[in-house]
Amino acid sequence: MKIAVLTSGGDSAGMNAVVRGVVRAGIVKGCETWVVREGYEGLVRGNDENVQLPPYDNTTILKDVTIADPEFLNTLRFGDGTLLRDGTFGHNCGRSLRGRYIIRVGWDDVRGYLPQGGTLIGTARSKDFREHSGRLKAAFNLIKEGIDALVICGGDGSLTGADVFRSEWPGLVKELETSGQITEAQATKHGHLKIVGLVGSIDNDMSMTDLTIGAPTALHRICEAIDSISSTAASHKRAFVLEVMGRHCGWLALMAGVAGGADFIMIPEQPPEAGKWQEEMCKAIDSHRVVGKRKTIVIVAEGAHDTSLTPIKAEDVKNVLSEKLNLDTRVTTLGHTQRGGRPCYYDRLLPTLQAVEAVNTLLEATPGTPSYMIGISENKITRVPLMDAVEMTRNVAKAIAEKDFARATSLRDPEFAEALDGFYHTSQLATEPDLPIHKRLRVAFMHVGAPAGGMNAATRAAVRYCLYQGHIPLAIYNGFNGLLDDNVTPLTWLGVDNWMARGGSELGTNRTLPSINIGQVASKFQEHGINALMLIGGFEAFTALVELDEAREAYPALCVPIVHLPATISNNVPVTEYSLGSDTCLNALVDACDAIKQSAVASRSRVFVVETQGGKCGYIATMGALATGACIVYTPEDGINLDMLRQDVKYMKRRYGIDKKGKATGRLIIRNEVASSVYSTEVMTKMFKEEGGTLFDSRMVSLGHTLQGNIPSPIDRTRAVRLSLKSMHFIEEQAEQLAKLPWKQRWTYKGAIAVITIQGTKVKWVRVEEMVEQADMKNRRGKTQWWTKYKQMVEMLVAREQLVN
Ligand code: ATP
Repeated sequence: MKIAVLTSGGDSAGMNAVVRGVVRAGIVKGCETWVVREGYEGLVRGNDENVQLPPYDNTTILKDVTIADPEFLNTLRFGDGTLLRDGTFGHNCGRSLRGRYIIRVGWDDVRGYLPQGGTLIGTARSKDFREHSGRLKAAFNLIKEGIDALVICGGDGSLTGADVFRSEWPGLVKELETSGQITEAQATKHGHLKIVGLVGSIDNDMSMTDLTIGAPTALHRICEAIDSISSTAASHKRAFVLEVMGRHCGWLALMAGVAGGADFIMIPEQPPEAGKWQEEMCKAIDSHRVVGKRKTIVIVAEGAHDTSLTPIKAEDVKNVLSEKLNLDTRVTTLGHTQRGGRPCYYDRLLPTLQAVEAVNTLLEATPGTPSYMIGISENKITRVPLMDAVEMTRNVAKAIAEKDFARATSLRDPEFAEALDGFYHTSQLATEPDLPIHKRLRVAFMHVGAPAGGMNAATRAAVRYCLYQGHIPLAIYNGFNGLLDDNVTPLTWLGVDNWMARGGSELGTNRTLPSINIGQVASKFQEHGINALMLIGGFEAFTALVELDEAREAYPALCVPIVHLPATISNNVPVTEYSLGSDTCLNALVDACDAIKQSAVASRSRVFVVETQGGKCGYIATMGALATGACIVYTPEDGINLDMLRQDVKYMKRRYGIDKKGKATGRLIIRNEVASSVYSTEVMTKMFKEEGGTLFDSRMVSLGHTLQGNIPSPIDRTRAVRLSLKSMHFIEEQAEQLAKLPWKQRWTYKGAIAVITIQGTKVKWVRVEEMVEQADMKNRRGKTQWWTKYKQMVEMLVAREQLVN
């Protein structure tokens, strides 16, 4: 199959990872891979036959090496990564690409694509492609090059264009045949065009997928801006109105509001009431100022309006705040900085996984299958009919235009409505608590184990929810030691205000377990009147939960709802596929590896062996390898042995042997800290150095505690809020269930003690005994781990098998 990939519409971070993923997965699966420059415009323009590019390179450099498939070696050698980055064609030949839009590419043409922002193959908005005549030209250009499969990465407009093209295709082919532009044989061969869409859009405005490529990076940029503005705002007691992108979609504004701890947001799907929003906003903000808040942040989506669809601009908000509340108010419009630049971790991972899925989808496509869009639901890559997704997206805009805002919100992904609820509960100060007195609880919060990004955000959200409902939130400082020392105090609305963007643990965290003195722990529960406990932490928190569960029969004071919200950079809590902090950690890893790789390339051909934390769980190492394009990953699950090392050395030597002579190239190896007790990072670095000879040098870096990250990532912050509020709902429900039972029987009720988990597309509560069944307590990880399959993908994307065998 000949596959072409193009990027269309507005650029977004992660589009380059799509191109890299499609090209590499395509080549490995035996396809010929092409790129189309400048989106649909490039398809319409095609290739000027008078402009010739150098022929495909057939020189065999590895004369002494037998490679099963010589054609594969060609695709590996083709280009050296300069293709399109500087507007010229591979091998540094400096030949301009003008006049050539549909170009065959090889393996190394997409080298170095992962950390680059925007789209290196160019994007455009094409008027011609909207016309039948333009699409006819596009069809001719594709058939001329023999291409029969297209991967399109763009927004809803681009994907609509894709579907129009596909549905018209048979007619276009007929027309071309009738006019004699193509032969009958060509018409027969190209009777069916295979298309798959990936959503590249910073707005996250596509229905039927949780996230679009580029949206997480845009959210990173917005949160960085909010975090920077917050300190100056607080210093001067100012108000800031931030305008963020999103014409018909308030996702960026909403998530930035949640992650940035904003005071008020304006989004198109849930507009404030016409004529009343000014008063409503001032009332909310004034209540925050009354309790002592020194800063005000209001986030306005580009397409914000009130219920009568009258636009609300940042300037309008500023005027209201200045005039009615007398606040020194400034407007900041973030504009194109939101398009991103360097992609964050998730905008490298998601497009890579989706690109591989796109190639698989094309290979499985038949004339009878619909065009698919590749999406993601919670943690699962999905295929959904492209037109259904586009239509549902269009329906959101329609619902807004018809002022049916409830419908508009319901058509977004489920996380959207939950985030709205989360924003409401974490930003509002209730004048009168929601719950009757007999339902109000004293809810304690404790951090257990090592710090992880999002622990503070989760606590802040739950504390604010508690205060909204009328519960009393209690901080237990310094873990179980702190409880025994009576280090327990109520938390206030203002006291947790700045916790959203704080890394580490504001409560203090350590590895002490309740078994240190379980009787005393129970008596402290009683003494402080604790009616519920939220444990936020990793495997230790889970172990603490198990110990508390086991002690419930003996100690009735422990028969209260107890939840564990997983938070650990290692992501080693059994059953759940995601723990808070792992996204922050992987962002820290990607940042460090970008710098390391740059140094590796700048000095000489050098292999860096990068050591990561993660305990006996190779999650961070494996996902980090996928997101940084590392060649080899060593995990504790697979260990390291001599056979493996022999093959790895063979791979490295062959890989460097193929590189263009005289061009320095950096490569990464990621090794989990405990992957082997014998083959340490130092030993391996020396081994690679020795074996690399004149081909490559080797150095080591240990990332250590830097991987705990500094400021939590927006994904960790927003997920912290969402999971924390779900945990609070669970606590309330379970407290009601327990209250129905006499004290003596409460320990028999197992439902009130559980872990909140993400499994595939679902968020699920799992009881302790079920968790224990799934846990490998000795190795402190789950018995089965969903991500282990991705080690193969790391190897596939560096052509390991082809080079080693
Ligand atoms: P963004 O979300 O950044 O706006 P988008 O993909 O929605 O991205 P559009 O400008 O709507 O951006 O569409 C990109 C291109 O897709 C258009 O310039 C046009 O070439 C093509 N396109 C859009 N809609 C259609 C259509 N109905 N028929 C044919 N082509 C279309």
